Amino acid sequence: MRTKYIFVTGGVASSLGKGILAASIAKLLQTRGLRVTIQKFDPYINVDPGTLNPYEHGECYVTDDGAETDLDLGHYERFLNVSMSQANNVTTGRIYKTVIEKEREGAYLGKTVQIIPHITDEIKRRMLLLGRTGNYDVVITEIGGVVGDIESLPYIEAVRQLQWELPREDCMSVHLTLIPYLKAAKELKTKPTQHSVRQLQQNGVRPDVIVCRSERAVPAEMRRKIAMFCNISSENVIVSVDAKSIYQVPVYMHKQGLDDIIVRHFGLDLPAADLTSWNNYLQRMFHHSHEVDIALVGKYVELQDAYKSILESFIHAGAVNDCKVHVHTVHSEHINADNVAEQLGSFDGILVAPGFGSRGLEGKIAAVRYARENGVPFFGICLGMQMAVIEFARNVLGLQDADSTEANPDTANPVIDMMEDQKKTVIKGGTMRLGAYPCALKPGSLAATIYGRQEISERHRHRYELNAAYEAELEKAGLMVSGVNPASGLAEIVEIPGHPFFIGVQFHPELKSTPENPHPIFVRFVAAMLGRKTRGLAGSNA
Ligand code: GLN
Repeated sequence: MRTKYIFVTGGVASSLGKGILAASIAKLLQTRGLRVTIQKFDPYINVDPGTLNPYEHGECYVTDDGAETDLDLGHYERFLNVSMSQANNVTTGRIYKTVIEKEREGAYLGKTVQIIPHITDEIKRRMLLLGRTGNYDVVITEIGGVVGDIESLPYIEAVRQLQWELPREDCMSVHLTLIPYLKAAKELKTKPTQHSVRQLQQNGVRPDVIVCRSERAVPAEMRRKIAMFCNISSENVIVSVDAKSIYQVPVYMHKQGLDDIIVRHFGLDLPAADLTSWNNYLQRMFHHSHEVDIALVGKYVELQDAYKSILESFIHAGAVNDCKVHVHTVHSEHINADNVAEQLGSFDGILVAPGFGSRGLEGKIAAVRYARENGVPFFGICLGMQMAVIEFARNVLGLQDADSTEANPDTANPVIDMMEDQKKTVIKGGTMRLGAYPCALKPGSLAATIYGRQEISERHRHRYELNAAYEAELEKAGLMVSGVNPASGLAEIVEIPGHPFFIGVQFHPELKSTPENPHPIFVRFVAAMLGRKTRGLAGSNA
């Protein structure tokens, strides 16, 4: 079968959920037996989001092959349960870099290098790249930003050209817009959608499907009006009403026949969508007999997107444990040794979050100490694991000034130090320890029990690590290194035998949790919190 291409654009406003729509379409087509992948084209000039802070861009999602990518790739993986790669995320910076490097090599000798055709040709090449591998029946391309933005124009132009170049039945354009509800007028308004589609059409792109995001149900008559103004049939106007969970969106889209519209457009004869296992998951997600409350200690409390994958992993792990997990972000800068019991005493478990820089570290260390001393289930991720090591070194080994050289380059006891090869690195972009690395687990450890295996692979994004010079001393005092990189010997997991549940990992397990494959550490962490709560211990140490 020839590869089919679907382009998803957005209008009216950002944050309408283009990524979730793209992932939902992909999921539906996957359940109809197609091999589907999704790629995101971001119009900003950074080569990748690795150098952006969470305030700018939310979480940076890392793939197995070490690409630092947009958090939408996390949704793609969670919905499809397949791995993404560098090829799935392209930015304007990457496009220009390629074209400018080619220009320097002399690839365009004698020619003026221009947005059209050189930049648009490079965009089109990348839009078709995954399709040409032969691995996919359908490639969905999400265009970041909103139609009408200056920076997304070359992408829209590339879609326009592909709509002409590809056979009509191999290419579809889906446009996501907003139908706002005006409270004062008590009315839904279609005008912004009409304008957005008009803008798209002015750029030469004809939408085949319009998906209207709305807080409320949109009456059939309004859908007919949109269809009439926008040159499409009214059944191709789909409504995406705010859902309680992003995981319901594929089901809502299916109920309105979106996958049928696409399959028909592509001229394919396929079995009906089978959403049994997806619906089972939804069932488990919404119906639970238990609840736990966890403190997520980090410095981005007001930013939901900064810890996106962690929050999603708790949804997956909760469903397995018949338990609703309430995650409360607690600002690490507001925690200190004096108020830690008051701040964290009522929670069933404590997670210390990943992060960079020195802000809020002392609060994180106080949180670890509280968990360690009071038998509260503890999970430290990346920086959170590093804080667990520092806390142990300071308060158990008695190395009062133990620290990470990231926060305190002059410490006499650098228990967390920069990796050797990192010390030579001056360039910031794409130079951390990135992507999947194998890790060997110590037989009999909590880690080995959790995974049920002795060899695992997890994704990394960091420059610092547990300093091997302190390992023996830490182990002797009771901090077990239960996971190591087999090639380099780097410590990847620490735990405290005897504590009900205390684990810190240098990698990011949250990047590999999906509804169909919840991550075992999150699953066991939730189980440990639940166990403690049912034993009536929660809050008892406050
Ligand atoms: N800042 C730490 C490092 O670079 C931890 C990074 C993280 O938590 N992702 O090692």
